Amino acid sequence: MKPILSIITCAAMLLFAVAAQAQTQPVQTFKSSAGPIKITPVYHASMVIEAGGKVIAVDPAKPAVFTGLPHADLILITDIHADHMDPALIASVSKAGTEIIAPPAVVKTVTTASPLSNGEKKTWSDWTIEAIPMYNLTRGPEAGKFYHDKGRGNGYILTYGGTRIYLSGDTENIPEMRALKNIDVAFICMNLPYTMTPEEAASAVKAFHPKVVIPYHYRGSDLSIFKKALEGTGIEVRLLDWYPKPQS
Ligand code: ZN
Repeated sequence: MKPILSIITCAAMLLFAVAAQAQTQPVQTFKSSAGPIKITPVYHASMVIEAGGKVIAVDPAKPAVFTGLPHADLILITDIHADHMDPALIASVSKAGTEIIAPPAVVKTVTTASPLSNGEKKTWSDWTIEAIPMYNLTRGPEAGKFYHDKGRGNGYILTYGGTRIYLSGDTENIPEMRALKNIDVAFICMNLPYTMTPEEAASAVKAFHPKVVIPYHYRGSDLSIFKKALEGTGIEVRLLDWYPKPQS
């Protein structure tokens, strides 16, 4: 009996380990007219988007670990800060022919990137990529300064097979976000002092009413406040763990 018991114990432990792994990277799948879009949250603002055999890595930056995920055909970067722009990790998720799209302020450092400025749009493979402003209205390191100056960084709207995915980047509750239309899935930041509170994020989300909203870049924020503020709006709030413990 003893060997059988230990086999059962081992199998149970293995199942638990697989479940724990799956829980830290719960892949989100969304429908589009061109087939499914798979999004894997990696860490903080880092994610991998897959559709039609192409892979897009967003803001690959330490301590995100991309091991086990496919190398990127396209890398999108939102801003110059180290939690978004990390030349070493950009190199490690790249392969021959990987393209990079980034705001001009990032292109100064990541010189192989193609610049895209706020308000500009481009087609890449079967995707349309539109750069949306992201900036602080009030918050900064000292009076008269902002953590994110208007015009420097990009949020993005990514469209594939008619499905529109919005990545807020690091921003406060700005009018450009409130005015968005027809967003299927929105990834929204919140964290003080750099971006906004859960209440402000919920107010912005109510204004543009995406079908699904997923908080990201939320370190230290109380997501239950965000979720409660959106109760009864018909907007689906998905809370995912973007800060998995390092895996041994
Ligand atoms: Zn950030």
